[in-house]
Amino acid sequence: MAVLHPESASDIAATIKHIWLMGPRSQLTVAARGHGHSLQGQAQAHGGVVINMESLKVPQMQVHVGNSPYVDVSGGELWINILHQTLKYGLAPRSWTDYLHLTVGGTLSNAGVSGQAFRHGPQISNVQQLEIVTGTGDMVNCSKEQNEELFHSVLGGLGQFGIITRARILLEPAPDMVKWIRVLYSDFTAFTRDQEKLISEENSFDYIEGFVIINRTGLLNNWRSSFKPQDPVLASQFNSDGKTLYCLELAKYFTSEEINVVNQVGQKKLCCYSRGRHFLLSGISSLCSPIFQWN
Ligand SMILES: Cc1cc2nc3c(=O)[nH]c(=O)nc-3n(C[C@H](O)[C@H](O)[C@H](O)COP(=O)(O)OP(=O)(O)OC[C@H]3O[C@@H](n4cnc5c(N)ncnc54)[C@H](O)[C@@H]3O)c2cc1C
Repeated sequence: MAVLHPESASDIAATIKHIWLMGPRSQLTVAARGHGHSLQGQAQAHGGVVINMESLKVPQMQVHVGNSPYVDVSGGELWINILHQTLKYGLAPRSWTDYLHLTVGGTLSNAGVSGQAFRHGPQISNVQQLEIVTGTGDMVNCSKEQNEELFHSVLGGLGQFGIITRARILLEPAPDMVKWIRVLYSDFTAFTRDQEKLISEENSFDYIEGFVIINRTGLLNNWRSSFKPQDPVLASQFNSDGKTLYCLELAKYFTSEEINVVNQVGQKKLCCYSRGRHFLLSGISSLCSPIFQWN
């Protein structure tokens, strides 16, 4: 029925209070909309009011450096903007999603999972404080220490326990450089066994994520963003006859002085796996070289 473009958290509070005061007989519903990327219309309210969170530009992003760095952001902020802003201070959030054109409120209402979750937990485990507009239209601060029940309900709460208008996100020093590796498997058991081993090891990688590739259109098409246009020979070697593949995506963070060490350690760790666990793809011989993609 209507879209609210809030300029402040008070605009949201006033709208929700109004709907609350209409009483239980009112059929009017309300939903926050982040970047609208959820798949089943969760950011819509049929015949109701949609709150366009991306209009909310306050508070302005504020990075706090120091021993426990953090950034205060609006619930409608995109993670990509947070990355750009925090990098100016040599910092970055500790936990991510793969895709960054999602809002803080949108992913904190779910979980926010990516390759750093094995180390830091999902994004909802890396939030210190929230400002919430509750279902009665009240503005409330919450954290583990203050209004704890609301804090834990809203995080991962699918937008059902209140609207996140501000969040305090924990940061860590951003790496200078990243070694990025993708390793392919045809065998599911070997893939999960290696993944579990890597995530349980101290000092392995800084980012570990596994995924399935339904390889109908060829790896080159699936991974078109992974290949440089000037590298057609490497790309054309990936041919798996349409079989389903499994992929471990790994990254090691390092400083520019550590580049040689990282190359050696990465190779050694991966080679050790390939010997013990049939790492090289069986039945997909044309994939065997190169099986590691170093970028
Ligand atoms: C290409 C792509 C890649 C993705 N990759 C990942 C990934 O790697 N890891 C991962 O975990 N997820 C991933 N997702 C899923 C994504 O995290 C969710 O779809 C997320 O909800 C989208 O955020 P959004 O800002 O678009 O939220 P919306 O779709 O707009 O909203 C999602 C839900 O949150 C509620 N909501 C939105 N803002 C607020 C707020 N401020 N306060 C309270 N509730 C709110 C909405 O009402 C709705 O219920 C991906 C999605 C896409 C499209």
